[in-house]
Amino acid sequence: MSKQCPCGSYQPYTVCCEPFHLWQQFPKAAEQLMRSRYSAYVLHQIDYIIQTTLPIQQKQLDYEAIRQWSIQTDWQGLKVIQTKYLQGTHQAKVTFEAYYQEEGELKVHHEVSTFIKIAQRWYFKDPTVC
Ligand SMILES: [Zn+2]
Repeated sequence: MSKQCPCGSYQPYTVCCEPFHLWQQFPKAAEQLMRSRYSAYVLHQIDYIIQTTLPIQQKQLDYEAIRQWSIQTDWQGLKVIQTKYLQGTHQAKVTFEAYYQEEGELKVHHEVSTFIKIAQRWYFKDPTVC
């Protein structure tokens, strides 16, 4: 039995997000990228987080800050609520909840993330950098 993927798909990691983390495949849908980025946080795959952010934003990302957040957060699960495609299929908004434990309490991070498709690959658009 291989371990279950942290993204909440109930699939083994080896056939879910691992092929993305190993760059053997690219997510075909925005939701897949969302899930693989969440599991990359859980597994501290910081390079994956950075390289799946819009290329123009990558230099502005703080590797160490992302790594600290990834390690210090006690991740409890992911729930993708809705995916909406805009402007044909090149832009998508994914609504999700990420659960984490803090001081013995289960907390929810609710977010609507924007994803953009460039040359057949999906990227996360980070709202905190321009
Ligand atoms: Zn997964």
